[in-house]
This record gives sequence, C-alpha cells and structure tokens, in this order.
Amino acid sequence: MKVVVVGGGLVGTAVARALAKRGVDVVVCERGVPGAEASWAAGGILSPQAECDVDGPLLRLCLAGLAQTLELCASLGDVGLRTPGTLDVASTADERQALQARVRWQQLAGLSASWLEATEIQTRFDVDAPTFGGAFFPGEASLEPRRFFEMLRASAQASGVRSVTGRRVVAVEEQRVILDEGEIKGDAVVVCAGAWTAQVPGSGVDAALLFPVRGQMAELQGQKTLDLVVYGHGGYAVPRAQGRVVVGSTMEHAGFAKAVTAGGLQKVLRTATSLLPSLVDAPVLSTWAGLRPATSDGLPLLGRSTSGAWIASGHFRNGVLLAAVSGERLAAALVDDVALDPAFAPSRRAGVKAHVGEGRPRP
Ligand SMILES: Cc1cc2nc3c(=O)[nH]c(=O)nc-3n(C[C@H](O)[C@H](O)[C@H](O)COP(=O)(O)OP(=O)(O)OC[C@H]3O[C@@H](n4cnc5c(N)ncnc54)[C@H](O)[C@@H]3O)c2cc1C
Repeated sequence: MKVVVVGGGLVGTAVARALAKRGVDVVVCERGVPGAEASWAAGGILSPQAECDVDGPLLRLCLAGLAQTLELCASLGDVGLRTPGTLDVASTADERQALQARVRWQQLAGLSASWLEATEIQTRFDVDAPTFGGAFFPGEASLEPRRFFEMLRASAQASGVRSVTGRRVVAVEEQRVILDEGEIKGDAVVVCAGAWTAQVPGSGVDAALLFPVRGQMAELQGQKTLDLVVYGHGGYAVPRAQGRVVVGSTMEHAGFAKAVTAGGLQKVLRTATSLLPSLVDAPVLSTWAGLRPATSDGLPLLGRSTSGAWIASGHFRNGVLLAAVSGERLAAALVDDVALDPAFAPSRRAGVKAHVGEGRPRP
C-alpha cells in the first residue's frame, strides 16, 4: 500500500511514521521547511486536564495522547521532557472558585488533581506571583517541540518515510496529489496541512470548520529555574533548559498573517511578568508567532472527509500532545479498518463549541 501525506508538521510526520511502521510506503509532501509552522511555534505543554472542565471525547483523546507521547519520548531519546506536573494559579477569588471546582470534578472522575494553597505553591515550586492558591495536575508534562519534531522526523525516515519538500500541493483527490510541478499517486491521501487544511483544494474540509488562530510567544532568559509549566493571569510559562522560559500566548483571528505585533507582544510580556514577577528583568531572547489549526467546535478532525481524502488536523492548542495518538489512530483506521471516534469526523458541519473538554479560554 502507498499513502501520500500532505503537510510535514508534527501531525503529518506522526501519521507518516505510524503508517510506515505498519509496512506502508509513505511520501510526505511539504511546501516549505518541515516542522517550521505551528509545530515549531508551540510551547510544548502536555496538558490534558489543566484547562478542562468537561469529561468528553477531547479529554479522553488528550489523556490517551499524553500516555502515547510519554511512551514515544522514551523511544526517541532526549526531547527536553519534563514531568513534574502543571500548575494553574488563581489570580482572583473567582478564579480560585472555578479552579477548585475543576479539581473537585476531576477528582470525582478519577483523575489526578489537587488543590494547593498559596504558601505551599511558593515553598514547593518557588513561583513568586501572589496567588489565591492553585490547581496542581501531577501527571502532566512539557517537552521541547522543535527537538521533539526533529527526533520524530528522524525516526519516521528510519522507518522508511520519504519526503518531497519545497513543493506545494495544489489539489488532492482520493488517490492522487497534484503538486505545483507534477503529481504523486497512491492508494490513499492524508491531509495534515494544519491551519491550511481547508485551503487545500479537494480536502473536503469546510473553512468554517477549520481556520487559523494566531499565537504570539516570547522566550526569556530567567534568573532562576522554573521546574514546571505554570498557567495563570491569562497565559502560561513553560520551562526550558538553562533557565530559559517560553511565555505565551495570544489567541487572535488574524487570517494567515503570522506577524509578531507590538500589541500582541505587550500582552504576552505583561501576562508573563504578572505570573512570574522575577521575569521583569529577564532578557528577551526571541519572539515568534504561529497559526494554530482551530475548529469551530474545538474538536480535532480525524477520519475521512466527504471528498474521500483522509484528514488528521484541527488539533488547535493540543497538537504536540495529540500528534502521536492521532498518528496511531489514523494509521490503524486506514490500514486495519479500526473505527475512529465519530465525534472527530471531518465531514461534520461547522458547529459551536459545546460539549468539548476545554475550560475557561486562555489567551
Ligand atoms: C503559539 C502556539 C503555542 C502552542 N502551544 C502548544 C502546546 O504547548 N502544546 C500543544 O500540544 N500544542 C500547542 N500548540 C498547537 C500545536 O502547535 C499545533 O496543534 C500542531 O503543531 C499542529 O501540527 P500540524 O502538523 O497539524 O500543523 P503544522 O505544524 O502547521 O504543519 C502543517 C504543515 O503543512 C504544510 N502545508 C500547508 N499547506 C500545504 C500545501 N498546500 N502543500 C504542502 N504543504 C502544506 C505547512 O507548510 C506545514 O508545514 C501551539 C500552537 C501555537 C501556534
């Protein structure tokens, strides 16, 4: 069997690798530099629970994604994995109430979550923001997405995945991909074009269902070591090596414009310095922006669209967390006919976010 994958980001690479491991001949078509879009921009937080207020298909996929990613990391090598959990601090009394309710329902659902008072947060994690306490999710983690991507890609190549880079896919059919120069035939086509998935002619994905949401980020040189991911004040801080900290992020409907803007950066830095006041003197090492593949109902797209193309996309804020599990599930469906969750059907109509496992929105 031969499969053509459109898009060489984390999701396309994970799909390609999972297919190749099942003996499929795979070609990945990437118009630019592999991994250089949303997958390069990500914070690398692996967090199914911290933002989740409802049990449902997304939470269950994210939990499976965390388990699968941790397993994958162990086989890939050093991807900057950190597993001390994640912390979500309350900056107001209302937030405290909401976070305590989140901890309670998650505990009742059998998930690992606990409430920490402000003093405990300060002594245990050396988080210097004044807080109203916080929710702690001990099973959660983070990794360095750029390293993760390079190692995943090397593993995919070692499994036999071939790639065509620098060629834009201008149309897909059920068994053919048309490039700006030439074409590639296969037994099936999988579109993993991230925020651009609905723009690929023939993908069968509705642009009202899947669209870009820009996120701006900054990397700072912290003066002290941050051990775990800290959410709060409408943003987050993610630890990196040698005291570096990645802070983010905005959520902007700016079409496909990827610029870092003065207003966006101001917001990111204001959030970061209120969350971790010691960052106020931190040198800014770099800034960037990326386009998340968002969906109108908050759920990813995994399965076959109305055009007959397979789709793995729409992972929004969880694509690092979900790449491995999406790759495995898509490959199992395509090769072994294993059923996929109908909640993620790419043929569904654009709907309003209602039943998904994402809680209060964060920038
Ligand atoms: C600022 C920011 C922070 C994030 N933080 C996190 C986080 O902490 N944790 C987490 O789990 N997720 C996070 N995410 C989300 C995650 O990065 C994405 O969900 C994930 O990277 C999507 O991967 P992808 O492969 O679908 O898309 P991409 O990485 O965007 O890859 C799609 C690829 O398709 C290619 N392509 C598009 N059109 C064509 C075409 N016509 N022909 C050929 N190639 C094409 C593109 O060039 C691109 O390389 C974040 C995202 C952003 C932007």
